[in-house]
Amino acid sequence: MKVLKFGGTSVGSAQRMKNVCELVLKERGNIVVLSAMSGTTNALVEIAGYYERTNAEGAHLCINKLREKYLLEIEALHESAEYREKTTAFVDSVFALLHSFASTEYDDKIEKTILAQGEIMSTNMVTNYLQEKGFKVRLISALDFMRLGENGEPDSAYIRKHLTEILNSDSDFDVCITQGFITRDAAGNISNLQRGGSDYTASLIGAALRAEEIQIWTDIDGMHNNDPREVEGTSPVPHLSFEEAAELAYFGAKILHPTCIQPARYAGVPVRLLNTMDPSAAGTVIDNRMVPNAIKAVAAKDNITAIKIVSSRMLLAAGFLNMVFEVFERYNTSIDMITTSEVGVSLTIDNTSKLSPILDELKRYGTIVVDKDMCIICVVGDLRWGNVGFESRITNALHGIPLRMISFGGSDHNISFLVKMADKRKALQALSKALF
Ligand code: ASP
Ligand code: MG
Repeated sequence: MKVLKFGGTSVGSAQRMKNVCELVLKERGNIVVLSAMSGTTNALVEIAGYYERTNAEGAHLCINKLREKYLLEIEALHESAEYREKTTAFVDSVFALLHSFASTEYDDKIEKTILAQGEIMSTNMVTNYLQEKGFKVRLISALDFMRLGENGEPDSAYIRKHLTEILNSDSDFDVCITQGFITRDAAGNISNLQRGGSDYTASLIGAALRAEEIQIWTDIDGMHNNDPREVEGTSPVPHLSFEEAAELAYFGAKILHPTCIQPARYAGVPVRLLNTMDPSAAGTVIDNRMVPNAIKAVAAKDNITAIKIVSSRMLLAAGFLNMVFEVFERYNTSIDMITTSEVGVSLTIDNTSKLSPILDELKRYGTIVVDKDMCIICVVGDLRWGNVGFESRITNALHGIPLRMISFGGSDHNISFLVKMADKRKALQALSKALF
């Protein structure tokens, strides 16, 4: 059994939903996790915002606008009047619920309930479409088995127990559909796994059921080995280890968030990234295998600021780095790259909202140099230090480009360079040429 997750764009219109169904029906007996139609969760956030500001009129306008969109899609989705009516009645019950919050006092529970409705509607629409076509489809509510523990994290034991029971009670289906993103909290109230959380749902379900594989369907053909906007002729990376995927996660939204794949990683269930627009493309598979000596991908992160603190106090002094890090911690600013010498430390941040108070405090410890408009270039693969030669291949490729920082040895899978934004394209192209 596999778990297939489709994001908002993949179910963004009636036509897209039909394409999804075609893909899903290629194999029977799998579990399908759906996001809300694209734009819906944002609209629901807006509606909740109106209620929070006690602007019922604003909420109503927004709900009605959303309803118009749904009615058009339902029109296009179904062939028979019977199913059009059935699906319309369902979404109208949802819109009635959304309208009803005008007369209750707004709280966190209402917000969570509002946010849950997008996935509830999309799964109902796809289920009805498949039923209309005569398929055996089982819609199971994520609210019946997804659960957060007291710590706010998903309760995997609860999820496994309840999901298994639900599936065992009737496993005779062509497709089993459920909602991504939504869950109950420890007290049983409706909650969610944070924005973009449908991938997390798929990972949790795949891990709970020890699925054969988790497929994440989006509109790109997997992870590319370099940034296609900067470099010509990039190609999808056929395979990444979970560790490599985690290293790349920082570099843009194209790859899954590492916490989302954590359950799959622990359960040893492979995650495959696939493209709804090009379903036959191989995509990228992420699993526990490590391909020895292979360099997999290059990625870049823009708008990085480097801060250098040089201080004779650092020489032989215990606790100097701690003093420096504490400043960043106090201003809730995370550090990405670090390099040290005996008399100084350089580090990078990407959130500069607290830069000026941070610099004011750091000045107490030494001389500060700030370099703005920098870019982290990261190379990912099997870079264990015992593998000789890859560092020279990589640094040779970058010859002629001024390197502000080099960081290696933090993990077995990453070497990073800090360059000027102006040199980014040249660096990425040079690396692609030398490595792939
Ligand atoms: N619908 C939710 C969102 O837009 C969850 C998801 O799509 O993953 O954030
Ligand atoms: Mg998403």
